[in-house]
Amino acid sequence: MNSRRLFRRSQLRLALWYAGVMGSILGLSGFGVYRAMVQSNWLAIEREIESIAGTLHDSVEPLLPVGEKPTEVLKQIFPDLCISNEPCLKEPTLIQRHTIGISDRTTYYIRLFDHQGKLLAYSPNQPTELPTSFNPEIWQTFQLKNGDRYHQFTTILHSANLNPNRFDNSWGYLQIGRTLEAFDAEVQRIRWVLISGCLLALILIVMSSWWLSQLAMQPIYKSYQKQQEFTANAAHELRSPLASLLISIDALWRILPQQTEDMKTTVKTIERQGKRLSNIISELLFLSRLEQNPEVSKFTVFSLNDLVNDLTEEFLEIAVLDDIYLTRDVPTQEISILGNESQLYRLVSNLIHNALQYTSKQGEIQITLKTQDNLAVISVRDNGIGISPEEQKRIFERFYRVDGDRSRKTGGTGLGLAIAKAIVDLHQGKITLNSELGSGSIFRVYLPLKI
Ligand code: ADP
Repeated sequence: MNSRRLFRRSQLRLALWYAGVMGSILGLSGFGVYRAMVQSNWLAIEREIESIAGTLHDSVEPLLPVGEKPTEVLKQIFPDLCISNEPCLKEPTLIQRHTIGISDRTTYYIRLFDHQGKLLAYSPNQPTELPTSFNPEIWQTFQLKNGDRYHQFTTILHSANLNPNRFDNSWGYLQIGRTLEAFDAEVQRIRWVLISGCLLALILIVMSSWWLSQLAMQPIYKSYQKQQEFTANAAHELRSPLASLLISIDALWRILPQQTEDMKTTVKTIERQGKRLSNIISELLFLSRLEQNPEVSKFTVFSLNDLVNDLTEEFLEIAVLDDIYLTRDVPTQEISILGNESQLYRLVSNLIHNALQYTSKQGEIQITLKTQDNLAVISVRDNGIGISPEEQKRIFERFYRVDGDRSRKTGGTGLGLAIAKAIVDLHQGKITLNSELGSGSIFRVYLPLKI
């Protein structure tokens, strides 16, 4: 993957993390604020109901009648209430005298029960769906079929001059309830304010996360660029003296062919090492160019059939010399892609070269070209030494070699597969490896077809 894309991706990932963490904190705080506001509204409602119930209770209790038929007295105490089992024609204006202080009288309703739980009187505006049977629970919340909710408080009423035959002195129960319409509307309003506030904040968080991640990535990107430049420069600087070293050695060979064997060996070693260094440098230079300026790679449409055929021909001679059976399987139908031909040539040639290096005499190598789901697939299969699963994970890293000494002897630089990966990435393809130690390896290159 080229460095620019890699940094963009890291920046995006960083921004997403920032936004995710900040968004979660915001969401949790928003939820906390919402719960606290709803709770405080709810407590305020309960306090209000309790205080009205307390006022009513205190003013009604001394007036409570003795006897089992208290309705006449009730009519006097609560002229606005309807008496149970009697026609009720009163206007629902409710709680007249005893609830002075209730700002909105239509919000509340009252119900009175005797000590056996029988309904004695009720406000004309009580919800019609309320059960007439008594439920002694202190706090109750109902929801009617039309969705309206009510919250109700029950308190016990005592009478000072009760029938002495009764074992307790409870006269009955007073229930006072109120509609939760205003409360529900307020909760809805809080919810909307918080949701829209959180959404707005989230948008700002996403924007600032992107900006912050950009700030955070800048120094890293700069230092990465510097390092890239250094590699490119170092490779460039080293190339010329090395080239002249190699030329000098070549000249030495010609001038001093009759020198002693020791001298020859030394010069040979210098030459070999010089060539190795030169290979490393040109591969490093190629890699760094590929990553720094991917756009300079000229893409053209070309046939992979020709590329595979040419490469097989090229390596056939070496394979015969190494006593290795090299075959190809290329379809007659043309398989073309859009890409850089010389880079792909280098990539496949590297895979074949490796296969030859790591396959012993009388081994087999097969190069195959085919298509699969809009992709061209080039595979290089060998039955050589294979690669262990742990090594397979690191094989595409720069300078990584399974067995440093062995690979060095084969003249490898440890950069071949790193270059192969960089080329495949540039072509928006992928490279895979299937291998088993001792049985061989298959490298597969997938490239998008030119449709
Ligand atoms: P080198 O230039 O050393 O071959 P590469 O990057 O091409 O570097 O390969 C990295 C390492 O992967 C090699 O050192 C070798 O150990 C291992 N390798 C690559 N291809 C094969 C193969 N076909 N069979 C076994 N090992 C392989």
